[in-house]
Amino acid sequence: MKITPIRKIGIILILIIFIPILFVSLYQLSIQNETEKSINSVYSNQIESVLFSINQYNEDLTSQWRSQLDNLLLYNTQKEYSTLIPYYLNKNDVFIDFSICDTSLSQITTYNHQGITANNNNLLNTLKTNKNLLKKLINYKQNNYYKIEPLQNFNNTYLVFLSESTFNTHICILNINNQRYLNKVIALRLIRSAGNEFIISIKDKKSDKIVYSTFYSKKTSPPESIKDLWILPNYQVGISLKGTTIKELTAKRGRIFFVIIISMIILVTVGIYFIYKSARKEIELAQIKADFVSNVSHELRTPLALISMYSETLELGRVKDDTKKQEYIKIISNETARLSRLVNSILNFSKLESGKRIFNFSKVDLSELLNEVCFSFEHKLNELNFQVDKSFNSKNVSIIGDKEALKECFINLIDNAIKYSGNSKIIAIKTGIVKDIYFVDITDFGIGISEENQKRIFEKFYRVSTGDVHNTKGTGLGLAIVKQIIDYHKGKILVFSKLNEGTTFRLNFPLIK
Ligand code: ADP
Repeated sequence: MKITPIRKIGIILILIIFIPILFVSLYQLSIQNETEKSINSVYSNQIESVLFSINQYNEDLTSQWRSQLDNLLLYNTQKEYSTLIPYYLNKNDVFIDFSICDTSLSQITTYNHQGITANNNNLLNTLKTNKNLLKKLINYKQNNYYKIEPLQNFNNTYLVFLSESTFNTHICILNINNQRYLNKVIALRLIRSAGNEFIISIKDKKSDKIVYSTFYSKKTSPPESIKDLWILPNYQVGISLKGTTIKELTAKRGRIFFVIIISMIILVTVGIYFIYKSARKEIELAQIKADFVSNVSHELRTPLALISMYSETLELGRVKDDTKKQEYIKIISNETARLSRLVNSILNFSKLESGKRIFNFSKVDLSELLNEVCFSFEHKLNELNFQVDKSFNSKNVSIIGDKEALKECFINLIDNAIKYSGNSKIIAIKTGIVKDIYFVDITDFGIGISEENQKRIFEKFYRVSTGDVHNTKGTGLGLAIVKQIIDYHKGKILVFSKLNEGTTFRLNFPLIK
């Protein structure tokens, strides 16, 4: 297969643009699953770290309380506790009371906002049943780690830690109100952590009810992750994305990505198609122009050769016979006419193209004009044995037109009918009126024009490049000129043709109103 320039452009476009983009797109689509997984894990990590930071915050806060109370116990006497501890408790209404117990669990003193309260044997018993917890704390302390362990009651939580005074170790129990702690202390932190993206909720494990949420809505998706609250073991903190889930989010991203990739492939394909189309048009135009130059040179060479040959013969006086002389002179005059027709048609075309041609409109009887044109063709038609069937059904009807321009149209069409008649030697010329249209049909029964070429024959320089047409002389300007002239007359040119059966060119003109 021959690689024409246009095929070459097509191949280059496909190789350097389309295939790489297709490969990159297909690769991206193939790794989409992994991308989704990594987005998933990024979100999961983010969620985990939000939950971790909430617990960490609680831990920091309670550690702060622990160290404040620790200091209070360490630097003051027991006597002073009864005023200082209530003073401390009054600073924060999350605190219910604060108890100090000896490590042997024999005596407990509880301070509330007012002062020392009555014996708190309930708490003492609770501690006694949680000896493991105390052991754990002692262990931690021996390793110099001051840990707080929660002891869950119904509505409140005991934060248990060890404290060292000058002489001995105490078991300290800070009693806090759960609901206040959640609503007043943690809520702020949750709102800050949730931002606009997340919903963070706290659930009571026992009742399985949400006791606090940063955002309430009827349709809330289940949390992406749940963690126990370290210092409130009966509560869990859960986090979900606002209005969506990670799964939905990654699926949505996947869909958007897919749409972008597919649109990109479509765009690139359309772009390449248009580049290819315009490159093809340019190449074809260049080819057509080159053909035109060669056609015109050919058209000029033949008459010039004949003129030069016969005029030389006459000049040298070689022909004695008068009839022969007349015949030669006739040939010279015919060829000169042909030359001037050719040059005129090119000049006319360029004038039409640049809009410089001036039309002189007047009333024209087309039947009369056609008779005139036929008369000028009579000699040629007789010579070539053509028969012309005329049927003018619109005598004495005129249109508005430029006589000379219209004559040029008919000459071109009849000339074409002769050129492309093949073996058929009949041409039919018909005029008539349909509604407010005056039509002229010029029909031949020759080689015909394929449907594909019918769309292009009115383009400038275009010549059908297959079959007999190749051997027929022409510039490819005739029909382009006719079309332009008819357009100036606000008319229409139509072609009806079948290969090897013949062609009719119909010119429609608007009738004078
Ligand atoms: P050309 O100088 O080649 O005749 P035209 O513009 O007059 O240029 O015609 C363009 C092309 O249309 C021709 O090359 C020919 O292939 C085709 N064509 C025109 N008239 C006819 C016809 N009557 N029958 C068949 N083909 C025709």
